Parts: sequence; structure tokens; C-alpha cells
Amino acid sequence: MSSVLNFYRHEALQEIKSRPFKVYTERNLEQIPPLARLSEAQRFEMKVVASVLPFRVNGYIIDELIDWERVPDDPIYQLTFPQRDMLDPDAYERMAQLHRRGAERAEIAALAQTLRQGLNPHPAGQLELNRPVLNGQPLEGLQHKYRETVLFFPTQGQTCHAYCTFCFRWAQFVGDKALRIASNQGDELLHYLRAHSEVTDLLMTGGDPMVMKTRHLAQYLEPLMAPELDHVQTIRIGTKALTFWPHRFVNDADADDLLMLLERLVKAGKHVALMAHYNHWREMETPVAREAIRRIRATGAEIRSQGPLLAHINDDADTWARMWQTQVRLGIIPYYMFGERDTGARRYFEVPLARAWEIYRDAMSQVSGLARTARGPSMSAGPGKVEIQGVTDIHGEKVFVLRFIQGRNPDWVQRPFFARYDETATWLNHLKPAFGEEKFFFEDEYAAINAPRLKGNAGKTGPG
Ligand SMILES: *Cc1c(COP(=O)(O)O)cnc(C)c1O
Ligand code: SF4
Repeated sequence: MSSVLNFYRHEALQEIKSRPFKVYTERNLEQIPPLARLSEAQRFEMKVVASVLPFRVNGYIIDELIDWERVPDDPIYQLTFPQRDMLDPDAYERMAQLHRRGAERAEIAALAQTLRQGLNPHPAGQLELNRPVLNGQPLEGLQHKYRETVLFFPTQGQTCHAYCTFCFRWAQFVGDKALRIASNQGDELLHYLRAHSEVTDLLMTGGDPMVMKTRHLAQYLEPLMAPELDHVQTIRIGTKALTFWPHRFVNDADADDLLMLLERLVKAGKHVALMAHYNHWREMETPVAREAIRRIRATGAEIRSQGPLLAHINDDADTWARMWQTQVRLGIIPYYMFGERDTGARRYFEVPLARAWEIYRDAMSQVSGLARTARGPSMSAGPGKVEIQGVTDIHGEKVFVLRFIQGRNPDWVQRPFFARYDETATWLNHLKPAFGEEKFFFEDEYAAINAPRLKGNAGKTGPG
């Protein structure tokens, strides 16, 4: 073994068992051993919801992350297992009836398809609005919304080691080809990046690109080290594998190859950042999760954390404070707190913006400066990423103070603007401008940006 690999080894590794990757979906849900603890009615509800929303979990999560003594309140259980209230009562009842009378799979699939259409499968106009064009051809699997950063969705990475019940990319998992954003065209990516010297960041995302074999990842990433792509200084990889399958970085067959790939990129002068999706400090407690973090950091890659604020999982300040503190201790840099997107099971998870800001502020006030690098709560909406900066009174009117963290027009970024305070609003499109104004400052310009691309689709141009 090379000395590089020895460097990545750690005594604790001896205690970390490798385990086969055993996956469960809606089809074999009944075989998950600890579900025998639940009542038959609870298992039925789970089956009904899992036939509409994507469900996938694995043995590591079941055996090591979920505390079955605390089910159904356990946060990791809520993160991965379907709950009845994730569907609205009417949708639930329609699907439950099919299951009660033992309907054929095809009939269940058809109703599932209908019900999904009611769940806003592509929030923020992801498909129509942000697809780049090269030589007049729209490029599949790329998204270029903010000047500096291109998103790339590699075909082999359009799934995850398990699925989050609140996933905003869920439409990509449910097998509806028309809804998928995907590409097997690494060449197109390279052409596009060569033609766009304003792009400093490539963000590889999915699904989870870490489900890919290292040799596939290398096919996409190695060419970025060429001199003509020197302007692409940062390679970010969005992943939840540090939670759902940390073995990917520790003892999977190609784990060492992956670390050496990351190290080559770092040595070639790239800033490599794993954008780790975390929702709770419990995800970082197991020895294998900690070893994965340690090994990635040993390559010179950074780990930054981001994740949504969710009812039933992490809607209290202490959970966020402890999560950020744990991350800083482990060398992870807190980056974003997101608002739950307006899609899928949002009815179950959403938290009012006013409450989200209180949680953020309260958590921030409990941690040291090194953990105050997380921005938020932030909404990824059509016009950009909008952060709730606070609630205040201006000349007798209670308002939200807002700013763009990212905007369709970079000139919108960091300009404070104001919305009427609304205790129940959960998303940008619920907010009205303060001080009796008719529109937010960006609305006309945003409509103009969208108009040429959204012919016949004008209903979708609202703020968010
Ligand atoms: C968040 C996001 C990015 C990255 O923005 P940063 O502010 O650089 O983290 C890029 N593209 C899209 C579509 C995003 O939502
Ligand atoms: S890790 Fe991300 S893409 Fe995968 S299921 Fe969770 S939210 Fe969705």
C-alpha cells in the first residue's frame, strides 16, 4: 500500500465493519426487520404514501442511525420513512382505497402519476428556465442560473443511497422520464465550460454524484485539470453520502481511489468542496461517519454543510446549534440553512418564515463565530436565493428585511428589501411588498428575463 493510503488510514478503521449495501424500496418495505414493531395500520399508511413519494432506505440507516425506541419521533426515521400526513387527506384516501381493494400495480402507478402532478414536481422553474444552450442546442443535464456557477447532473448520479422524505428533486427518482434532468454528456459539459470563462465553480449534483463509481466520477473530473479550464477554480460535489452511506469514503471497494482522485484535484490547484447535506447532529455520531469526514479532510478537500429547516426533524434552535458545533469540531464549514422548498411533502415539513428566522437567530446566538458562517434561512426561488435577514418595525410597520444571496441578475445581490410581516407565510410567493408598494424591486426585470423563454407559460413567472 502506498504511503498516501497509509496517511488515510486510522486506527479506528479496524473497528469499522464493512457491510453490504442492502437497499429497501416500496416493493420490499415489509421485509425491513424493525418495522415489525409497528402496528399493521401504520405499515399500511407507510405503503400508501410510499406509492406516491419516492422511498428508499438502506441497512446502515436502519441498524445504526435510527433509534427505534424513539420511533416515530426519531429524526432520522422522519427523514427517511413515509408518514401519512405527508399527503393531503384527499390524496391519501384515494390511494388508500386502491390498496384496500388490492388494485393492480398499473392502476396504482397511474394514480400516483396524477397525484404527483399536484405536488409541484419542478419548483422554481428548474427545467424551463435554467438550461444552457451551446451552438443553438439546449444542453440536457446542465443548469446555469447564476453567472459564476454551473450545475451538472451526471446521468449515473441521479439517485441517492436513500431518499429524504422531503426531497425537492424527488421527481427525478420516480421514473417519469419527462421530468428527469440528466446527461451522459461529459463532452458537452467541457465544451460549455471552455466557452464560458466567467464560470468559476462547477457544482456536480444529482441525486447524489457519490453513488457513482470512482471511475465514472474521474471521467468527468479529471479533464477539469486541463490548462484551458483553469478558470474553473472550484469543484463542488453535492452529497448526502456522509449520512446515508459513509462507507463510500471508508471501505467501499473504490473508496481509496475516490480519495486519491480528490487529492489529485487538490494538488492540481482546484478548490474541492463536498457540499454535505446534513439535517441533524445525529447523522455525525457513528464511527464510520466520523472516519469518512476525517479521510476526506486528509485529501485537502473541504466539507461545507447545508440543509433545510424541517418540521418533525430539526425545527428547534438547539438542534441547529448542536449540529453546527459538531460540524466545526469535525472541521466542516457550515454554509446554508434553507427553507423547505415548495414541492413534494412540503405540507408536512414547512415552517413559517417568521419562525425559521427565530430558530436561525436563536441557534446563531448559541455558537462561536466559527459556526456563524451558515447563511439563511434562505429560499431558492425563481428570482434567486432570498434570505430572511430579520423582522423589524419601520415607522410603525412590521416588516421582513430580505436580501438576495444569489440573483438571476447579479446586481440584485445584497440589496436590502422589505416585505410586509406575515406570521404564516412559508415562501417568497406568499410575501407582499411593504410600505404599500405594488411590486418588489426585481419583479419587472425578472418577468422580462423569463418572457422570451416561457412562451405560453406565463402563469409561472411570479416571484418564486
Ligand atoms: C445555490 C445555487 C448555486 C450556488 O450558489 P452559491 O451562492 O455560489 O452557493 C448555483 N446554482 C443554483 C441553481 C443554486 O440554487
Ligand atoms: S440527498 Fe438530496 S437529492 Fe437525495 S433524496 Fe435527499 S434531498 Fe433528495
